[in-house]
Amino acid sequence: MTEKKVRVRFAPSPTGALHIGGVRTALYNYLFAKKHGGDFILRIEDTDQGRFVPGAEQYIIESLKWVGIEPNEGIGFGDGEYAPYRQSDRKPMYKKYVDQLINDGFAYYAFDTAEELDAMRDRLKASNVDSKYDPITRSAMKNSLTLPEDETKRRLENGDPFVVRIKLPRKDEVKFHDEIRGWVTFNTSTMDDKVLYKSDGMPTYHMANVVDDYSMKITHVIRGEEWLPSAPLHVLLYKYLGWEDAMPKFAHLPLLLKPDGNGKLSKRDGDKLGFPVFPLDWVDPNTGEKSSGYKQAGYLPEAVINLLAFLGWNPGTAQELFNKQELIAAFSLERVSKHGAKFDQNKAKWFNHQYIKMEDNSLLAVELNKQLAAQNITADSTYVEQVCGLIKEKISFTKELFDYSNYFFVEPSVYDETVIKKRWNEKSPLVIAELITLLNNISDFNHANIEAAYHEALTKNEVESKDFLQMFRVCLSGLAGGPPMFEMAALFGKQSTINRLESALQRIK
Ligand code: GLU
Repeated sequence: MTEKKVRVRFAPSPTGALHIGGVRTALYNYLFAKKHGGDFILRIEDTDQGRFVPGAEQYIIESLKWVGIEPNEGIGFGDGEYAPYRQSDRKPMYKKYVDQLINDGFAYYAFDTAEELDAMRDRLKASNVDSKYDPITRSAMKNSLTLPEDETKRRLENGDPFVVRIKLPRKDEVKFHDEIRGWVTFNTSTMDDKVLYKSDGMPTYHMANVVDDYSMKITHVIRGEEWLPSAPLHVLLYKYLGWEDAMPKFAHLPLLLKPDGNGKLSKRDGDKLGFPVFPLDWVDPNTGEKSSGYKQAGYLPEAVINLLAFLGWNPGTAQELFNKQELIAAFSLERVSKHGAKFDQNKAKWFNHQYIKMEDNSLLAVELNKQLAAQNITADSTYVEQVCGLIKEKISFTKELFDYSNYFFVEPSVYDETVIKKRWNEKSPLVIAELITLLNNISDFNHANIEAAYHEALTKNEVESKDFLQMFRVCLSGLAGGPPMFEMAALFGKQSTINRLESALQRIK
């Protein structure tokens, strides 16, 4: 038998901003597809129109583009053979399968009103029984299994509202193999006759999901653990529709947990603990509520991919930094954990710091230029790039670029008090004055020559380097810490370095 081409899909519902856990699901699908030379599809599951949020679909597309995990088919990324990829646009495609299930005795019409359903639930709750529509309770409800055939017909012809429900066996074991969890067994006695279709012609999530996975020739369903309870229903639908041979393999990913491991990572945790749970900034169109995104918080997409890959997967070696190509090569579902993955804010920061250190100075300069423009500062582009090169070791987020480099663009007027208190003495002005003279005589203003002048000024005044080193830095930048000092001075250039020393001489007392 020839192996089928791997086809996986990311199938979010446009009900709000895409959670970072959703981005991880998309990433694992992407890595799996690329690893196996397969296709990665974006399908929008918008059958639940009541939960539709305007802008959410576009947000999903932009998020995937920003992190760089682009589907090769799907909404926002070009139509393939299986278009359309938005379920509301596929609405007419589902009815024939619903009819097939009804005709084959695997589904039935139900006409119960909301009040009747509530009454049933209250009744069952009162007698401490699980309140679900199932093989026992359905016999006391208004459906095509209990009503006379002509009554069902009359109601349908009359246009009475209805739903179609799956007809579950009372006690049957549903067993399937999960690529991450191994064999998983559910008993239909714990399940209910889920609604598959409504009289407005819209299928529910379960029906549309299974029909689309089948129609789009999906080979592996890789999705979050929260969908595991739906899987037995999906398995039964494949069976009832006669598609068992084409059933995709299932892989349910572990939950993303709060940093303390206590429950699912939520939007509120992010707000409370100060890290984003969304890839991009998001303003809820209904409430106006704002949430921050990784992009705007100063994360690099490569770092986000790397840190997400490690939330639930590990390569089995000590290597932690993986670019996308390396992840594709190393990824496998076997190494995805069954256990929830705790979000670690410090680790996320660490990953970003690593990627900022590796980032091209010219790319960091694009960010820094934006921050400079916001301060009405103009600077030479080569200079801005060199500044990025010098300070990138020091920062964890791109949004910190200006904060850590402002003294490269604006000469300091305040100086670190602690250092002055500790290091400024009667010899300091003498050393600085000497230094100004020596620096003035340098023709090639590079860090080695600056360092030599510095030592000469100290020797002449019989001052030890350890007693003046930090003072020199403070005179130049105002701050007690920063990048290598002589390189920093070389980048300021001769004129600016001397200006800075002269100002310090006047201002520090
Ligand atoms: N529409 C579901 C969601 O919002 C998709 C679940 C699945 O992948 O089957 O996550």
